[in-house]
Amino acid sequence: MIHRTDPAWQVLSWQQQLADAFTDPESLIRYLELEIALLPAARSAHRKFNMLVPRWFAGRMEKGNPDDPLLRQVLPLGDELELKDDFLLDPVCDLEQAPVPGLLHKYHGRVLLITTGGCAINCRYCFRRHYPYTDSTIGGERLSAVLAYLKQNPDISEVILSGGDPLMLPDHRLAELGASLETIPHIRRLRLHTRLPVVLPNRVTPQLVHWLATTKLQTVVVLHANHARELSHRHRLALAPLIASGVTLLNQSVLLKGVNDNLQRLCDLSEQLISVGVLPYYIHQLDKVAGASHFEVADAAALNLHRQMSARLPGYLVPRLVREQVGAPSKIPL
Ligand SMILES: *Cc1c(COP(=O)(O)O)cnc(C)c1O
Ligand code: SF4
Repeated sequence: MIHRTDPAWQVLSWQQQLADAFTDPESLIRYLELEIALLPAARSAHRKFNMLVPRWFAGRMEKGNPDDPLLRQVLPLGDELELKDDFLLDPVCDLEQAPVPGLLHKYHGRVLLITTGGCAINCRYCFRRHYPYTDSTIGGERLSAVLAYLKQNPDISEVILSGGDPLMLPDHRLAELGASLETIPHIRRLRLHTRLPVVLPNRVTPQLVHWLATTKLQTVVVLHANHARELSHRHRLALAPLIASGVTLLNQSVLLKGVNDNLQRLCDLSEQLISVGVLPYYIHQLDKVAGASHFEVADAAALNLHRQMSARLPGYLVPRLVREQVGAPSKIPL
C-alpha cells in the first residue's frame, strides 16, 4: 500500500487522486486538526451539497486555521442553511436558455456546452450547486442534437466546454468531441472552463497536451483560482507544455468574502497567476445562489477593491470585474 506521505503518492494518476479525495467533513476536519465542534453544522450543510476536496488541495491549507481561505471555499458551514429571499436555486436562469439540452446560447458568436455534471472539488459558492445535471448534459444521444444546432448556426465561431468540469471527462472523450467540432467549418475556437488543473495539476496529462496541441481549432483554457496559495511551482511545470503548444491561458475567479476580498490577496493572486503563465480574465461578483449568501461582497466594496487594484498593478494583471445579469448580451462590468 502506498502511504499518503510517501513520495510515490505524488505519482498517482489524477483519477486515483480523485477517488482518494475527502468526501466527508469529519475526515477533513481531523486531517486539518480543527475543532470537532465544527462537525454537526458541516454535516447538515454537506447533506444539501456534498463536500468534495482533493487531498492535494487540502495539503495546501494551513492546519488548525478554520479561516484558511482555501478551506473556506470547500468546508460546508451552517451559514449555508440560512435562506435569503434574493438567493435562488438557478440565479442565472440557465435552464430557460438551452435551445438544445446541454447547450447554452446566451451571447453572440459563442455557445457553452455542459459536458458533465462532475467536478473534482465542490465549491460552496458554486452557482450550479442545485443544477439538475442528469437532464442537462450533452452526454450520449444528445450530442448529435448539439452538433446539428451548431451546424445550423453559422455565426457561432467559438464553443466553450464547461460543466461541471469538462476535464472530468477522459482524454479520449475530449478528443472525440473536439474531432466532431472540427468538422464544422465555422467553428474556429475551442475554450475550456476548468478548475481541475488548479486542484490537481497532474490532470494536465501528456494526452491532454497532445490533443490541445494538435487540434485544428484555436484553443483557450480558462482556469479558476481564487487565492494565490492555490497556485505553485507545480502548476508552472504542469502548464508549461500547454503554453508551449500555443494554448492561451486565462483565469477567472469569484470575489468571495473571507477568501479574497482584500487588496493584498487580489494583487497576490494576479502576481501568482502571471508567474505560472496565466493572465487574469474576469473576477465575478457572486451569483446569488441559495446557500452562498455568506460569501457576498457588496458592490461598493467590490468596486473600491477593483479601483485600488488598478492603481497598483499593470493593466494586464487587473481582471475585469463583472456580474452575470439575466437577459444581458454579455457579462456586465460593475
Ligand atoms: C459566461 C458565459 C459565456 C462566456 O462569456 P465570455 O464573456 O465570452 O467569457 C458564454 N456563454 C455562457 C452561457 C456564459 O454563461
Ligand atoms: S469547480 Fe466550478 S463548477 Fe465545479 S463546484 Fe467549483 S465552481 Fe462549481
